[in-house]
Amino acid sequence: MKKIIFATGNANKVREVCQILEGTGYEIVSMKDAGIDVEIIEDGKTFEENAIIKAKTIAEASGELVLADDSGLEIDYLNGEPGIYSARYMGEDTSYDIKNANLMERLEGVPDEKRTARFVCAIAAVWPDGKVKTAVCTMEGRIAYESAGANGFGYDPIFYLPEKGCTSAELSPEDKNAISHRGKALRKMKEILENESSDLK
Ligand code: IMP
Repeated sequence: MKKIIFATGNANKVREVCQILEGTGYEIVSMKDAGIDVEIIEDGKTFEENAIIKAKTIAEASGELVLADDSGLEIDYLNGEPGIYSARYMGEDTSYDIKNANLMERLEGVPDEKRTARFVCAIAAVWPDGKVKTAVCTMEGRIAYESAGANGFGYDPIFYLPEKGCTSAELSPEDKNAISHRGKALRKMKEILENESSDLK
């Protein structure tokens, strides 16, 4: 079976990618499984640039096809913050209860129509010959007035989805996956990989 290394240390992400890419004929392995441990300097200015940097670094180190992702939350009223710094916002070790409370505080008194925000996910595929393909997708919503829900992770409890009438932390994993930035980007990447491998036949 053809192999893809997924450039993450996060076991949940590897599981999610395996589920969505099932049936493509690719075996997905983590960096750990592939025995790769290299330092990645994520100094891109966009989610897409960071995903490409991660995938390229691992593709060069391994000589294999590599997928990498980068994601985060953009809040329009805060000029796109926390953006590519989503994981590092207020410090990597600060709890999301504190980060989420801080963001809602910064939007205190801001009306519904100005609370627009989106989760963005960029996925990059880099082949051993240096070829690069990317998929960038979003999930649009608004910053809630109160945190709600215990599913998901990170900023999900304050990400309100008007068409669902709840936050993304109140959705089941399946329901979130069907509409999420990451689910959409992974399904788009699945199509890209299928087209690429059929071009080779
Ligand atoms: P990374 O892509 O693993 O670097 O994570 C980026 C950060 O963006 C995460 O640590 C979260 O803070 C945030 N983030 C990305 N996707 C989601 C999501 O689906 N729900 C909640 N927070 C998210």
